Amino acid sequence: MANQKGVLMVFKSLLLVLFLIPTTVTKPIQIIATTGMVADITREVAGDHAVVTSLMGEGVDPHLYKPTAADAKAIVSADMVFYSGLMLEGTMTDTFLKAARMGKLVYPVTELIDESYLLEPPEFQGHWDPHVWMDVSAWSQAVEAIANALCEQDEVNCKEYKANAERYKAKLHNLHEYAITSIASIPKNRRILITAHDAFNYFGRAYGIEVVGIQGLSTESEAGIEDVNRLVNILVNNRITAVFVESSVSDRNVNALIEGAAAKGHTVKIGGRLFSDAMGQVGTYKGTYIGMLDHNITTISAALGGNAPEDGFAMMPQSNQPTGGNDEH
Ligand SMILES: [Zn+2]
Repeated sequence: MANQKGVLMVFKSLLLVLFLIPTTVTKPIQIIATTGMVADITREVAGDHAVVTSLMGEGVDPHLYKPTAADAKAIVSADMVFYSGLMLEGTMTDTFLKAARMGKLVYPVTELIDESYLLEPPEFQGHWDPHVWMDVSAWSQAVEAIANALCEQDEVNCKEYKANAERYKAKLHNLHEYAITSIASIPKNRRILITAHDAFNYFGRAYGIEVVGIQGLSTESEAGIEDVNRLVNILVNNRITAVFVESSVSDRNVNALIEGAAAKGHTVKIGGRLFSDAMGQVGTYKGTYIGMLDHNITTISAALGGNAPEDGFAMMPQSNQPTGGNDEH
């Protein structure tokens, strides 16, 4: 008797389980994204409806990245491919074309950014400067492009993609405002970003800080020494207290700047390592787009005498408040 009852209960719970399984089980969309910045905003928009795999991890240079055989395979077996575009992933163009010819949905996320916005500095040799993620308001348009693309692929969940995009864009709006305020808090004459990257042109324009590149800086030639002297003068005359470095400029050449300024009685330190073309470690705050930009903004502001809070944007209430700042009354 007890046994029969048990069987009945098992049967009932089986029925319940069957009832709970939706009639059409939809598989998550398989998405390949190139850089971490593209992958992160894609995850924000797609939510549970997609599995997003990023090809390029921490410290990878997307300009030079050559797809491996495994990458090519992942690209052709994915449902959708999102890439940054504007020739950032220059060596991957053939792979993208091949995937597109096979009927894959291959999207450059910078598609909606108007040409009139784009910069074409000489160092990019006739191409647009691709580093648009450095201006949060521009990267916000990439969020919108991703939502549109997902809607094309998966109409059923379109409303959700649009809502996710709106919510995330509101956060980005707050981050953009944070950047404007933080950089503006640096004393005006010190608003000069001396950096080893060529990635900060849009950042400089959006947030009102002059960008001076030191890539290629060398103490090995006459011209190189002249460059060092010119930069030392900029540092001393503007009382700039920090320069920002990366592994692409040797310590010796950066030290030449610091020593040159010291010889003129002005102290300069290394202001920190900025993220340019890749985010921080996966699974950490700096491994997100917001965390990456927050780190850059806060580091630059703090090192140059601005008043960005020590904990940055992350600890501010508006970092999680998707309702815009109080600047728009
Ligand atoms: Zn770059």
